[in-house]
Amino acid sequence: MEKAEKKQELLIEEVLSSLPQGSTVLDAGCGKGSFDYSAYQGLRIVSVDCFNSPQGPNSSKSLFCKSDLFKLPFGSGAFDLCIYNFVLEHVERPQEILLEARRVLKKNGLLYIATPNAASLEDKLYRFQNIMRNLFLFKFRRPLDHKQKYSFSGLLKFFYENGFYLKSFCLCPAGFCWLHNYNAKGLKLGILAGPFIFTLRKLKRFFKLDLFKDSNFLMLLEAVETTNYRDISHVCKKCGYVINIQDESRYWKCPRCKEKNAV
Ligand SMILES: [Zn+2]
Repeated sequence: MEKAEKKQELLIEEVLSSLPQGSTVLDAGCGKGSFDYSAYQGLRIVSVDCFNSPQGPNSSKSLFCKSDLFKLPFGSGAFDLCIYNFVLEHVERPQEILLEARRVLKKNGLLYIATPNAASLEDKLYRFQNIMRNLFLFKFRRPLDHKQKYSFSGLLKFFYENGFYLKSFCLCPAGFCWLHNYNAKGLKLGILAGPFIFTLRKLKRFFKLDLFKDSNFLMLLEAVETTNYRDISHVCKKCGYVINIQDESRYWKCPRCKEKNAV
């Protein structure tokens, strides 16, 4: 008999469905709404954005607060789940935002993060079009959309240093959704999306060159009390023992094999 594979929730809808009735959810930097609010009547949904309120079907299904994410207008421990769906790459000072998320989360509260992999073709292309678009529109001083560049290891360090641990994750392929409705001042470049994606598909099929791969990181994290990241500054040249030493002296003695190591 086949054993059913039990998976930890990861996607927004899975996480929302796993929450008990009456749980509180924050859609931070919500834009038009990160998910269909009306599908989760049993949850108390609050959305926050510094620009727009949720539009379309989501407009009346949540309590909306216009606020930036550095100082959220909620008490500590107010939420069971905070969602930052493609938000962290857009902000200055992401650590302040993360610590604020941690403050408003309950103990062992959940944090959903989706953000692009800066090494992916999709993110590089997005950054390139952003620069070209600003030039084309003569908006030379307009800041770029993506202010942060994330790698998987960099993100893990960032979260683990700030009191979160990773419960589940996936490396999500590129969709190039933004390319399909690309439009800068009447310049409808969206028509190029089809041939472009067609070419990428052929490269993948015939040359095993997968440029869609690992384009975005989706992560479900849990707020914890312990610090689960640490720095290591020295490695013993003789036995490989690792240690973190703050002092600046020229030599250090390995606690395991007693070797005198030079810095
Ligand atoms: Zn040693």
